[in-house]
Amino acid sequence: MGGRVLIALGGNAMTAPDGSASPADQHRAIGEAMTHVASLIGAGHEVVLTHGNGPQVGNILLKNQLTAHVVPPVPLDWCVAQTQGTLATLMMNALERATAPQGVRVAAVVTRTLVDAADPAFADPVKPIGQYFPEAEARRFESQGQTWRRFPRGWRRVVASPDPVEILDAPAAIALMEAGYTVVAAGGGGVPLVRGADGTLRGVEAVVDKDLAAAALARAVGATDLVIATDVPNALIGYGTPGARPIEAVTVRELRELRDAGHFASGSMGPKVEAALRFAGDGGRRAVITSLEHIGEALSGNIGTRVSRGVER
Ligand code: ADP
Ligand code: MG
Repeated sequence: MGGRVLIALGGNAMTAPDGSASPADQHRAIGEAMTHVASLIGAGHEVVLTHGNGPQVGNILLKNQLTAHVVPPVPLDWCVAQTQGTLATLMMNALERATAPQGVRVAAVVTRTLVDAADPAFADPVKPIGQYFPEAEARRFESQGQTWRRFPRGWRRVVASPDPVEILDAPAAIALMEAGYTVVAAGGGGVPLVRGADGTLRGVEAVVDKDLAAAALARAVGATDLVIATDVPNALIGYGTPGARPIEAVTVRELRELRDAGHFASGSMGPKVEAALRFAGDGGRRAVITSLEHIGEALSGNIGTRVSRGVER
């Protein structure tokens, strides 16, 4: 079989089931996730990994806020870069351990993602990040230029989540893959940057959706398959209703219709479906959305939500 497979790891691969992200929680979750990745490598696939970073960025932001009077807070794009380094280090150790004794060589690429300064997302920030705060605190951060919104559980900062235009460091990832490395790249959607009129790059206070970045990276590195590993075995039709049912094999055209009918919540299943549609609609062989425990079998048949251009053979 074989093929170059991009695996996008969701929050449950990085944190405890309740979302807590102590170092021990992260070690444990990543260790477990890498055993599943190892089984896909064992089945003969060349693997490229990407991952989310929501709780980890949340922790860094909280430290920024609590220590602002002692240490200058760092911008959001720096926070993303920090989580790429930390999470990739844990993944490298865990994947080497999970593939022992024969082992794989793992390398990580600090990855920048180009976004468009004119992306409408900048005018309407909707992506919640970090912890909930009381209104008074939120107002204080707003006076410093941030955007905060009231949610049922309290106030939370929202930032723009612009579309990834280009994964700028994909060529470095490809070079490492060609040299035989299993590569970790574009963590947390990549460090978001815009290009100025003079051609220089500058970081922005935004986060790129990790599933959309995964689709862009998958195409850029010529992946044959995209596997989106999350905490549910399938995308569902009628999610949250008594008649909910899993989507199995589906064509791009069919899935587009389901998306347009509003079956996938924005901010959770929505971007996964969008990523699968972009990848499979743009020349990728197959995109699979399934739970982390299933990724070892995700390419060998009837597991998960399988998206392809035509009907499954
Ligand atoms: P990840 O951390 O892997 O990106 P998310 O929480 O962002 O995970 O997305 C997965 C979640 O999406 C599921 O746990 C489920 O609660 C939610 N969801 C929303 N719409 C659907 C749907 N139509 N089918 C399945 N899950 C859905
Ligand atoms: Mg998500």
